[in-house]
Amino acid sequence: MMNLLIRNCRPMGGAATDILVEGGRIAVIAPGLAAPDGVAVEDGGGRLALPAFVEGHTHLDKSLWGMGWWKNEVGPRLIDRIDGERAERKKLGLDPARQSDRLAKEFLKRGTTRIRSFADVDTEIGTAHNDALVALRDRLRGTMDIQVVAFPQSGVLVRPGTAELLEQALRNGADIIGGLDPSGIDRDPKGHCDLIFALAAKHGVPVDIHLHEPGELGAFAMELIIERTLALGMQGKVVVSHAFCLGDVARADALYAALGEAGIGLATTAPPSRPVPSVKKARAAGVSIFGGNDGIRDTWTPYNMPDMLQRAMLIGLKNEFRRDDEVELAFATVSDWAAEGCGFADYGLGVGARADIVLLEAETVQEAVVATPPQRVVVSHGRVVARDGVLLA
Ligand SMILES: [Zn+2]
Repeated sequence: MMNLLIRNCRPMGGAATDILVEGGRIAVIAPGLAAPDGVAVEDGGGRLALPAFVEGHTHLDKSLWGMGWWKNEVGPRLIDRIDGERAERKKLGLDPARQSDRLAKEFLKRGTTRIRSFADVDTEIGTAHNDALVALRDRLRGTMDIQVVAFPQSGVLVRPGTAELLEQALRNGADIIGGLDPSGIDRDPKGHCDLIFALAAKHGVPVDIHLHEPGELGAFAMELIIERTLALGMQGKVVVSHAFCLGDVARADALYAALGEAGIGLATTAPPSRPVPSVKKARAAGVSIFGGNDGIRDTWTPYNMPDMLQRAMLIGLKNEFRRDDEVELAFATVSDWAAEGCGFADYGLGVGARADIVLLEAETVQEAVVATPPQRVVVSHGRVVARDGVLLA
């Protein structure tokens, strides 16, 4: 918990001012502040100041970052990727503790201090990935906030023993219970949703379900999720990730309205290759919609970077955002709305918020999104933790 004076920066592209941080929180925002005795001073040099970014959906545990280029020869179906990954991670000797630590730090260097990460749980690795992420979360507390989602990547009902492992993962400290394509993988939508929500109710944890299923199949699963959210009073505690069906089902408007009423959030990666939920339609229905990379350099995909400004740009492109007021929405999906949707507290650049701040060379928020400037000063809890891509201590 640090004290810091940032001189001459421009919060959200506004007029130049100073930011005084006390005890790790923003205490005063005003121009020409005097530095209290012994307070570290950071010269903002007139740069843009943004709230540090939020990654709302990634898989820290299985990135191959730093392990050399991996030649991707995986088949085209979802199940090819799921089965291929289980075989490859064994061959590659993927160490989830090392890889999640590595990728979390790449995020931090580029200005992200809050992350929701899934951790694979299955009958081959048990809770090892989950436990590695829980340990990382605890070790980085005070610098980064990491939420761990116990995630049945290989299905639950199709692999007996997985439900018990998910429960063990929650006992071992996972924050959230994950689910996956109730029809497409488990082939039992009611059974899958009942099981996931029963675990959530028993352990008092939120739910985050990967729903890749398109069209009516996805819409049906979404209705099951909405029913259970309402029945258990879990409004504000449930997220549907991907929700591709909202991009191609005819009755999407009714689903957005139902999601809004049930307080269910949406995580989107906005991939170029799939129909996706609309940021504007979601917000108009009162739905929290926020951005995430999904996997980064893993056996699923060679793409994606631990840089939430780049993700905001991709969300803007996919949503055809051009006007300044639209590109600002893209930034909201990796900042305010992601903090809101994931439940990260004390967020933003207001007085009283935790002092997690990024300084970078851009005139406006919009320019930061489209130019993704690499030179950044990253402040976490009022401490400068990274400068121009280099972590400090
Ligand atoms: Zn994912």
